Amino acid sequence: MEANEAAIREKRKNCVSRELIIALPDSYKAVVMWDTMFDPDERVLCLYINEELSSLFLSVSELRYETLPLGVKNDDGSYKFEKAEDTEKKRPYPNGREWTESVIKRPLRKQNSFREKILNIYGGCCAVCDISEKSLLRAAHIIDVAKGGSDNVNNGICLCVNHEVAFDKGLLIIHEDYSVTSEVNIGIKSLKIKLPIDPRMYPLSSNLTKKKINLCRAYNYM
Ligand SMILES: [Zn+2]
Repeated sequence: MEANEAAIREKRKNCVSRELIIALPDSYKAVVMWDTMFDPDERVLCLYINEELSSLFLSVSELRYETLPLGVKNDDGSYKFEKAEDTEKKRPYPNGREWTESVIKRPLRKQNSFREKILNIYGGCCAVCDISEKSLLRAAHIIDVAKGGSDNVNNGICLCVNHEVAFDKGLLIIHEDYSVTSEVNIGIKSLKIKLPIDPRMYPLSSNLTKKKINLCRAYNYM
C-alpha cells in the first residue's frame, strides 16, 4: 500500500489501482515475482496478487525497494515474511514516516558509447585546439539532449572542457560551413574545426543552425 501510494504521489510509470489494494485483506502481502531496473534509480516490480490478476506492475525508487520486507517461500507454497527490522533502518525517516522522491524523467541514453564514438571519430583531439588528453575531452552535444537532441554522431563534436563550455555559452560559435568564430580569445587554433575523416560523421549543419537559434533565445544576442 505504501509503495503504491508513493508511486501515485511521485507520478511514476506504473502503479496499481487504489480500489484493488483497498479490497485486499489488511494482512495481505503481495509478492514481487520479478523486478527489473528501468532507469538507474527506478525499479519495476511485477506483483503477484492472486491467480486472476496477472502482471500487475509497480514502479518504485531504489531506496524504497530496499525498504521492502523480504519474503521466503515455504515448502507448502505459502510465504514467510522477514521481520522488517533491517529494512526499517533503511528508511530515510524513522517511525514509518512517509517520504516522496522526485522522479527525474530522462531519455534512455547510452552516454558512454556516445562519448567513445565521438572521441574516436575526432581522433581523440579537441576539434578546435590541440588538446588530446582524454580526461579533458568531452563529447559535446550540439543540441542538448534536454532540448530534444539525439545521441547520433551528427549531433556530437569532440571538444576539450574549455571549448565545450565556450560552445555551450555561445562564446565559441561553430557555423554551418564548420568555420569557428569567437569574440574573445579562447585559444582557437584554426579558422575551421577539425572534422572526422568520414563526411557522414560530420556535424549536421541543421543542428549547428538550431544551436545558434537556441543561443539567440537564451542570451538574446548574435
Ligand atoms: Zn579545445
